Amino acid sequence: MGSLDGRVVVVTGGGRGLGRAHALLLAAEGAKVVVNDLGSDLDGFGADPGPAQSVVEEIKAAGGEAVPNTDSVTDWEGARRMIRAAVETFGDLDVLVNNAGIGYGRQLSHLEDIDEASWDTMIAIHVKGHFNALRHAAEYWRDRSRAGGEVRASVVNTSSPAGFVQLSERQSTQLDYAVAKAGILAMTIGAAVELGPYGVRVNAITPGARTRMSERAMPEVVAAPQDPAAFDRFDPAQVSPVVAWLASDRCPVTGQVLKIFGSTIELYRGWVPIGMIDKDRRWTVEELDVELNRLIEQGERAGSAR
Ligand code: NAD
Repeated sequence: MGSLDGRVVVVTGGGRGLGRAHALLLAAEGAKVVVNDLGSDLDGFGADPGPAQSVVEEIKAAGGEAVPNTDSVTDWEGARRMIRAAVETFGDLDVLVNNAGIGYGRQLSHLEDIDEASWDTMIAIHVKGHFNALRHAAEYWRDRSRAGGEVRASVVNTSSPAGFVQLSERQSTQLDYAVAKAGILAMTIGAAVELGPYGVRVNAITPGARTRMSERAMPEVVAAPQDPAAFDRFDPAQVSPVVAWLASDRCPVTGQVLKIFGSTIELYRGWVPIGMIDKDRRWTVEELDVELNRLIEQGERAGSAR
């Protein structure tokens, strides 16, 4: 018995890297998988049906069930087709793993180097792409729930430490990527609230793994260990058990953000108030000059003490 026996799963960007590792493990755990992948290059250009098809073949060769889908998640109708493929092929949809993404790998570039086209592409693939798939899946689950069916569904979104953790001084913040990944966190928390009543849990992971994306952006960090017997922290397969656990219908967790680097799993919480000023009259600018400066100093002291 696998932890996902009979669950129907869509994995976006499932043809390579992290998505491939998730699709293989979820299938090995008993899920029926729609392997979505546009087959684009790292900058989001081009299309190739090869990656999705080859992961489907790997799953089938191991005795699992899978079908390919090569729509772009940025395409509203394409994302609808991808969700329908699950229902039409396997009769249902239980899990959406939103993973498709790109990374320009411009770790030495800066805000002023980002042009309009690259900004739009980055936001489209990550924010719109996650939303498109979520939106069509949510409609399916809402309709099932309203028709009296039992929904025990799970969405796993893919953010990045770049979306909320300060990077080292050597790197730029990759502002377009960071903004897109922070948007995915907001989407996760909001969708968890909205879809909870239909029986849908929504969580986000922020992985770190050796893929073509990270090998371009930070090859020294994700390199395989010299000793082949050592634990390979950045093998993408180290991230997938967390995705499988979040996907299983015995998992109760929703609205959470988990950072996974090898076997280290950290639970993150978003913005929380760390200080307050108040009075029952409008503030003057002069008062704020004193009180807000004091509040911010206190907040910085509290933050550095943690
Ligand atoms: P990858 O390039 O190996 O795989 C991404 C896959 O997504 C590719 O096969 C690509 O063809 C597909 N894809 C791209 N645009 C698509 C679209 N519009 N529609 C459908 N498929 C599309 O990269 P990866 O490192 O495995 O990244 C997977 C996810 O993990 C991304 O969202 C990435 O931002 C995130 N992530 C990765 C790391 C890391 O260390 N590798 C760290 C943080 C976050």
